[in-house]
Amino acid sequence: MKSLQRALIALSLTLLVGGGAFAKPTASATPAAPAAANATGDFVSSKNSKVFHKVACKSAGKIKPANATYYATKDAAEKAGKQPCKICKP
Ligand SMILES: [Zn+2]
Repeated sequence: MKSLQRALIALSLTLLVGGGAFAKPTASATPAAPAAANATGDFVSSKNSKVFHKVACKSAGKIKPANATYYATKDAAEKAGKQPCKICKP
């Protein structure tokens, strides 16, 4: 009985390892960022402002859609010359 249990554990470990190796290329094959980088993002700034916000920030809601520029990352916003909002602290 014990040897059967051991065999089952070994089998499930093999499946786990094999599954993990299989899952990696599948995950990286799906790009996290959408093709239209300017249409969506976790951070947003107004064209008229030097400050960028998390999209959930109250001030971000005041930005007119026509003036909104979205950034996928904080780095991207900072490289565009924007400074983090002091309220939402992105
Ligand atoms: Zn903000």
